[in-house]
Amino acid sequence: MPGPESEEKKVPDNCVKYDICPPKKDTFQKYEDGANKGKKILPKLKATAISKSGEKIEKSIIVEDKVDCVTYHIYWNTETEGKIEKHIPKEITKGYENKYQYIYHDKENNEYKLGIYSATKIKNNYIRADGKYSKEPNIYLINLNDVVQNYSKNNLKYRFNVDSKERSFMNRDTLASFFGALLDAQYEDISCNGFSKKDGSSSPSVSHLNGYHGDFKYLRKDKTLQKGDGTSLNIRYNPELLDVDRQNKWIDLLTKYGWTSFLGWSYKLNGQTYYLHKIYKNTPNHDHHLHVQNYKMNFIKEIK
Ligand SMILES: [Zn+2]
Repeated sequence: MPGPESEEKKVPDNCVKYDICPPKKDTFQKYEDGANKGKKILPKLKATAISKSGEKIEKSIIVEDKVDCVTYHIYWNTETEGKIEKHIPKEITKGYENKYQYIYHDKENNEYKLGIYSATKIKNNYIRADGKYSKEPNIYLINLNDVVQNYSKNNLKYRFNVDSKERSFMNRDTLASFFGALLDAQYEDISCNGFSKKDGSSSPSVSHLNGYHGDFKYLRKDKTLQKGDGTSLNIRYNPELLDVDRQNKWIDLLTKYGWTSFLGWSYKLNGQTYYLHKIYKNTPNHDHHLHVQNYKMNFIKEIK
């Protein structure tokens, strides 16, 4: 599986999954003479890989020193404004043309490599004058089921799941924003009820197109990560289970990283009606999930 540190591995040809443990970089030996004097000797490792046809193959592979691919740098930046830069290298390492790396930079500017993920290029079938679902001719979707869902390094962590059979795709940009919100929040109970299908469509939802708009369960006070039919918290009927503070912070963080509009429901406590941040009315069918939409198309800065 692609994942953290996977840029140090070279995927064997024709393989979709592989499993090796690269040695720590500082344990590499160096060439003592010849044209490569002083350069690191890249060790060969045995890898077990699964080919596209499903068979297991053992291969010797070389641990690569460096991979150049399009990389999203996600910065904590300030309390209320996140920053994402998309760095496009002059030359992309062969085999990494459709892969995207994600790196998060925390408050103290520590770096966290979140993985390299493959995207599927699709045609943008939803080009509109207002550019709500991008005006680019192509969209690059990433399956959330391929993304590391339980991450922990130093004091940083996140955990999420995908509670949708088909609508498990974000696009390469919104995934960067999702990572920003996840790592700022450090919650371990984010359940995504779905973004888009693999072709960018979303029926029965009408607006979950091209991986820009999606749904999340409301957050519970007991912080349990839920999955399956009927597990979404309904804040109309069970408002006392809603973790108002964490839910508001989650909405603030999704805003911090590029989404501008949310649909939801009110909640009643002690006879008084309240609204979560950015929710101004009751939207039918949104008493059991938060809908996030209207992603800022100019949020991510491209750097060449
Ligand atoms: Zn929705």
